[in-house]
Amino acid sequence: MALINENYQKLAAGYLFPEIARRVKAYTQNNPQAQVIRMGIGDVVLPLPLTVREAIKAATDEMGTLEGFRGYGPEQGYEFLRQAIANDYKRLDGLEIDSDEIFVSDGSKCDSGNIQEIFSLEAQIAVTDPVYPVYVDTNVMAGRTGIVDQKGRYGRLNYISCTQENSFIPSPPSTAADIVYLCSPNNPTGTVIPRSVLESWVSWARKHKAIILFDAAYEAFITEPGQVHSIFEIPGARECAIELRSFSKNGGFTGIRCAYMVIPKNLMGHTTTGTPVSIHALWSRRHSTKFNGVAYPIQKGTAALYSEAGKKEIEELIKYYLANAQIIRQTLSALGLAVYGGINAPFVWAKTPEGTSSWDFFDTLLHKAQVVVTPGSGFGACGEGYFRVSAFALRENVLAAMDRIKSCIAVN
Ligand code: PLP
Repeated sequence: MALINENYQKLAAGYLFPEIARRVKAYTQNNPQAQVIRMGIGDVVLPLPLTVREAIKAATDEMGTLEGFRGYGPEQGYEFLRQAIANDYKRLDGLEIDSDEIFVSDGSKCDSGNIQEIFSLEAQIAVTDPVYPVYVDTNVMAGRTGIVDQKGRYGRLNYISCTQENSFIPSPPSTAADIVYLCSPNNPTGTVIPRSVLESWVSWARKHKAIILFDAAYEAFITEPGQVHSIFEIPGARECAIELRSFSKNGGFTGIRCAYMVIPKNLMGHTTTGTPVSIHALWSRRHSTKFNGVAYPIQKGTAALYSEAGKKEIEELIKYYLANAQIIRQTLSALGLAVYGGINAPFVWAKTPEGTSSWDFFDTLLHKAQVVVTPGSGFGACGEGYFRVSAFALRENVLAAMDRIKSCIAVN
């Protein structure tokens, strides 16, 4: 008898986005003429940069020759890409990252989901609330949690509440944990963790021999000077942190797939008897056993993002999406809603009007304005009463959606 992993049965009702898709599908089936504008899931809409396309094409042609053909590549990623990534870190006050500390992958979703495998099932996990759901669900699947309660919180998981009172900035808890997931700029709140708070996280992690999984998938959207782009800008972080970065949102790679993790060589985990073990070595073993590398043309396309032309194209993409975010922020603020994010991130996080629940407001916007947003409660109990609007949309759709939301809220 094939027994299943019963931890999967602990998962609370579907992953957030399939539930949104289900409601939108039901609505459009009943209203086939409706022109729905989707500002829910954070998927990019602008075309792939020219520099990237040219590099991918050239690499594909290269593979069509006897001399240029390549089979399996290095699991960790080609040196040309890892070197380009490492060089780019130097922009941050000369930050030194060894190319050997970089693991290229097919996405930060996979990385953030897979990395937990190398840690004990007894590890105490801490997450923020609201949170990118993948961090939670993958730990539920692995069996590191108890069952879910009515608020959607799992037993044995440590939640760090991010609310209006702390401006949605997570601070280290007074208690210990072994692994903590931090996301900055944050999905869903769009906020950035200030340097001083990151310093306190690093000293907390070092004190407890904990590891910070720092998800910087939206790093490219940081526009305010002085904000922290990499956890490794914080002294001591090399002894307690792993950084995740993705090309999905800066280079428009959601359909192309490329990301990476930085795992410092001096980062240690421990056995139950307290013996230090290299996390880099453990992940290297895991990555090379279960992954056979990102396609060569895709890695060439990714490396092209680091060329002067590529950087300019990224800049244009970011500018476009952040201008959308400004429009969203201004519209929602003018409607009297409390608004967060959207300055250093492609997400605007806003309070629903007059205490409406997140899903009720989602349904109102879907039915009355034909606009899809993401209900804040889908990201955790503290997200109840909030909604997230993604700036990844075409300008005309943003403008139309904001007009519709204005009339919908004015009428309600
Ligand atoms: N991390 C965060 C915080 C995200 O919001 C997302 C995508 O929405 C990802 C990771 C996934 O990135 P990728 O497309 O590289 O898998």
